[in-house]
Amino acid sequence: MITRNVSACIRDVQKQSTESGSGTQTILYLKGCPLYCNWCPNPELRNPEVRLVWDPIKAKHYEDGRIYSVQEVLELCLDNLDPAERTASGVTLTGGEALTQHTFVYELLSRLKELGVHTAVETTGYVPEGQFAKLLPLIDHLIFYVKHYEREAHRKITGVYNDLIIENLRNSLSSPSEVEVRLNLIPGLNDRPEDAEGFARLLQRIGVKQVQLFPSNNQTDPSNRHNAQGSASPFTEVELAAYQDAFQNLIR
Ligand code: SF4
Repeated sequence: MITRNVSACIRDVQKQSTESGSGTQTILYLKGCPLYCNWCPNPELRNPEVRLVWDPIKAKHYEDGRIYSVQEVLELCLDNLDPAERTASGVTLTGGEALTQHTFVYELLSRLKELGVHTAVETTGYVPEGQFAKLLPLIDHLIFYVKHYEREAHRKITGVYNDLIIENLRNSLSSPSEVEVRLNLIPGLNDRPEDAEGFARLLQRIGVKQVQLFPSNNQTDPSNRHNAQGSASPFTEVELAAYQDAFQNLIR
């Protein structure tokens, strides 16, 4: 039995037209993240609660989020949407780490699936295994951001080890979800050719067949969520091609 009155702290709700133009995509930015990436572009999203923040330009405080119930979010996601078109549109959950608010996410995704709405989730994978397994059947498209292949280096740059993340990624590959692995290439942290080899070995061992590379200076990332910004040493096209070559040779 689903409880409809579960709520979550959400920083923003954005609506976008789908690429096909057949409907509206809703993107929810949930607050809260257990990682501490030292290049985090949105550190304010780490805190899971609504906070008062000072705006120096407007010289006043504002609230950096709002509490929404599942029902409120459903109404936002489905407005102006003909039932016949629902499967052509969808909802994307991101953060922060969206799955931190797992009870809300479970309730929301369950309702969306009942209504035939396409669901996508961006995650770091740093979620307790049981919670992650429970959510997987409700996610059509899982976008998995992997930060580093080496355990200690992962802890150094994000504050947590990657064991849980690797296990969740491995489990997601045998689920019905479409799994997309993304690597953010951060200058000096994971962008060397040996890093490409390290990532490729890890992902090959798990069974990942395809990855998307996002250099920190790449403007083609539609979301820029979880990506580094303002890099001091951006990738050149030649460097990126070398990274891709090293990677693709190993992932085959
Ligand atoms: S970059 Fe993403 S995963 Fe890392 S601390 Fe920021 S919100 Fe969390």
